[in-house]
This record gives sequence, C-alpha cells and structure tokens, in this order.
Amino acid sequence: MKSYDRLFIGGEWVEPSSSSVFDVVSPTTEEVVGRVPEAQDADIDRAVAAAREAFDHGPWPRMTPAERGAVLSKVADAIRNDMQGISELISNEMGSPISWGLLAQVLAPTMILDYYAGLGSTFAFDTVKDGLLGPVLVAKEPVGVVAAITPWNVPLFLAAAKLSPALLSGSTVVFKPAPETPLDANVLAELFADAGLPKGVLSVVPAGRQVGEHLVDHPGVDKVSFTGSTAAGRKIGAACGANLKRVSLELGGKSAAILLDDVNLEESLPLMLPNAIMNNGEACISLTRILAPRDRYAEVTEALVELVRAMKVGDALDPATEVGPLVAERQRDRVEGYIRIGQEEGAKVAVGGGRPEGLVTGWFVEPTVFVDVDNSMRIAQEEIFGPVLSVIPYGDDADAVRLANDSDYGLCGAVFSGDNHRGLQVARQVRTGTYMVNTNIPIDFSSPFGGYKASGVGREFGEDGLELFLEKKTINLPAGFTPEV
Ligand code: NAD
Repeated sequence: MKSYDRLFIGGEWVEPSSSSVFDVVSPTTEEVVGRVPEAQDADIDRAVAAAREAFDHGPWPRMTPAERGAVLSKVADAIRNDMQGISELISNEMGSPISWGLLAQVLAPTMILDYYAGLGSTFAFDTVKDGLLGPVLVAKEPVGVVAAITPWNVPLFLAAAKLSPALLSGSTVVFKPAPETPLDANVLAELFADAGLPKGVLSVVPAGRQVGEHLVDHPGVDKVSFTGSTAAGRKIGAACGANLKRVSLELGGKSAAILLDDVNLEESLPLMLPNAIMNNGEACISLTRILAPRDRYAEVTEALVELVRAMKVGDALDPATEVGPLVAERQRDRVEGYIRIGQEEGAKVAVGGGRPEGLVTGWFVEPTVFVDVDNSMRIAQEEIFGPVLSVIPYGDDADAVRLANDSDYGLCGAVFSGDNHRGLQVARQVRTGTYMVNTNIPIDFSSPFGGYKASGVGREFGEDGLELFLEKKTINLPAGFTPEV
C-alpha cells in the first residue's frame, strides 16, 4: 500500500484543502493499493499561484536551457535506478502487463527526458538573421504557466512527454494526473524535488474532470497541454478558444493496419499484433482495424485468430503476461458493451468475446477478433479502448486507403507489404500523424507525433514538442548590429 496524505504544491508537500481522497485499486486483485488526497479548486488556485510566482519572479525561466536540461537528466537517471519498482507501481495502478510496461511505461519516459535534456544544449532558442529590411533576432521564449492534463493509460510516459519540453522551455507546470494513476505522478514529483527543481516550478494535483475544468479555465494558466478523449478535448479546446489560451490536444484514435496483397503473414502479423493489442488495447495508437485483401481474407483471419488465441492473459505483474486486466470495472463494462454491439451489427466473433476462464477476480476481457466487419459499423468507427480487433476486407490498394481514411480519427496506422516502396506510397496517402511501414515502431521521440482530424491539434515530441511551449518574439535591430546569441 502506497499512501500519501499531502499534495505536492509549489515544490512542497502541503496539507490538502479537504479530506477527500482517491483510492487506487489494482485491476488484477481488485484490492486497494494506494491512496492520495484529491485536489480541489482551492488546491488548484494555490498551485497556479505558485507556478505564476515561479514564472514571473523565480530563477527557473532565467536559468540557461542547458541548466534546466541537467535537472531533466537527473530525473531520467533516478527513474532508471528503480525501473522495476516504478513499473510494478504503474501495473498495480492500471493493469499494464509488466514486460511491456518496463519498456513503454518506464524506459520510454527516461528516453524522452534525456532527449529534451539534450535539446537544452543544441536547440536554437535565439536566431539572428538578415531580415528583408534589416537584422532580426527571433527569440523563442517560454509560454508561461502550463496546465498539463493526462489520462491513466500510459501515465508516466505522458507526464514525461509534457513535463520534459515544458520545463526545458523555462515554463512552470501544474500537472493534473488522472484519478486512477496518481501514485506514479507523486513519485515523479519526489524525483523532481530531489533533482533540485526550484520551488514553485512544479505542482502535482490529482483530481477529476470538474477540478480539471477549473484548472483549464484558470486565468493564471497561459497554456493547456491535454491528452485524453476526443470528447474532453473538444470541450477543452472550446474553453481555451474562448479565452485565446494556447492549447495542444492529443486525443483518440481508430487506426488501421493495411495488409497488402503481397504481405508475408508469418513475418508481418507478429510485428503488427503487439501494436494492435497494445497495453491491453488501452492505447490511443492501437491498430484496431485490420484491413485484409478480400482474396486473402480467410488466410489472414485464420492466422490472426491463431496468434490471438495464444496470447497469455493474466496477472499484470507476471512477466509472461501479454494481456492484463482493464483499468476499471466501468472500462470492462464499456468493452463488453462494444462486443455486444458488434454482434448486434452482424459482425462475428472469431476468437474471444468473453471473460477468460479461471480469472474470476480482476477486470479481464479475452482478446477478441471480429470478422465480417464493415467499416461503417460502430465497432470499426468508435474507439473501444480494449483488446478488440476488427478485420475488414478490401478490394485494391486504393480501396484500402479509402477505408483507412474513412474515420473521424487520424492518429496512427501501418502498412505491411513485400515491397517497401509500395508500402511507402500507401503511407503517404493515409491521413494520420504517424505511420509505420513494415515496422513495429510507432513513435520516435525525436520526431513529431500527433493527430490529424479528431485525433488532436499540435505535435508532441521532437523539436515540435518543445515549440508547443514557446512563444516567438521578433526583435528588429538597427543596421550593423548583430548581437551574439
Ligand atoms: P478522459 O478525456 O476522460 O480524461 C483524460 C484526463 O482529462 C483525465 O485526467 C481527466 O480527469 C481529465 N479531464 C476529462 N475531462 C476534462 C475536462 N473537461 N477538463 C479538464 N480535464 C478533464 O480520457 P480517458 O478515458 O481517461 O483516457 C483515454 C483517452 O485518452 C482515449 O481516448 C485515448 O485515445 C486518449 N489518449 C490519447 C493519446 C495521444 O497521444 N493522442 C495518448 C493516450 C491516450
């Protein structure tokens, strides 16, 4: 049991404004594994005031980017020192299989922190150039007080994706993690404090939607960086628009994997499957629609069903587990609801569809493959956020691209083909922010990541991810004056 009775506000562990708490419940055992205070509006006000003071008058924005990067490096090192412990903590919070979690939930955040630490020494915050009418200095300055809001599915990863560039920019941050995963967020707060982050620069305020709205609307916040559902993203985008507040949104997905007719299934399906049922299917970039050539449809579904049937479902902490429990009972209800909807729509369950035998405790759903799916069905259009795949037949390459693009979302996708050039041609035609050609690597932390269409606004990672937290100022200079930068 990991319990906190204080909130990390302004760099100190302080009394919360109320006695309300969040219990963290293990999705495998259904037992309470942690408890934290639930932040209220008054705690948000205090956190924003501390961030405002630290931004307007504190040392952080006035330090060099390399000095700020050194703090990020220290946090990366500290996470690396306790990979197993942090990974277990996250699996206990939200059910991620530990083998996958070690890489994606823990190692990946250290890579993100290190990448931005490195940019502290290489990124051109100031550029002097010859403008059309005279010399010009373009200065990239921190955006100010940032509200960072994340969901529970990859909590430390998403915290790193927001906090690393925001802090490197010189901005200060109020971080609101999801109520399901406040423990790893508090651990991160401890690591930043140990790394010497000045007071006021970071607050961690575990809270639900309503208190999140108060944070988004807060006049002391200059920028909102949000990851979560498209429904919440629309509301947050609208609230920020009304106040002309800067906002970036990483939202949902319904990504398609296209198997071209020359695909080698033995090689490609094992590459594809971990990204299709990634993190128990609770991943925004999951490849949940499998587009199969009509004349190889039976062969594809047979091979896929065999692989899915062999997936090991069980305790999130067992290193052999490939599919763990869903985050909460309500999430299992949601996923089971979609399995019913698919059957009512006329699709057929080829494997799975129920609860795994023998696992009576924990919020498990069998990994499930639907066949005879039409792309217009709800199971092919809506984000299920569970281990449920739909195999959809197509005619030629153009038809596959048409179906992949027939979605409100545009986050990720993949193509598998015997011919890389043909795969690349398909990749260029699919309207998503990220794509894979014959590979299983969905995100490169040095390159932009984000959504077309209803999957988001803005790009995280790479230099683009830093630019999300920078304002640009053009300073016109007199002829002959070129300052050193
Ligand atoms: P959610 O939108 O319900 O909640 C996400 C976070 O936002 C939580 O911290 C929640 O408390 C807060 N929140 C919700 N409504 C809010 C509001 N109006 N104002 C302020 N805060 C608010 O999402 P969820 O169900 O917890 O997470 C799953 C979703 O996240 C899926 O749609 C998934 O695709 C998406 N996601 C996207 C990415 C990406 O990079 N594009 C990554 C991970 C998850």
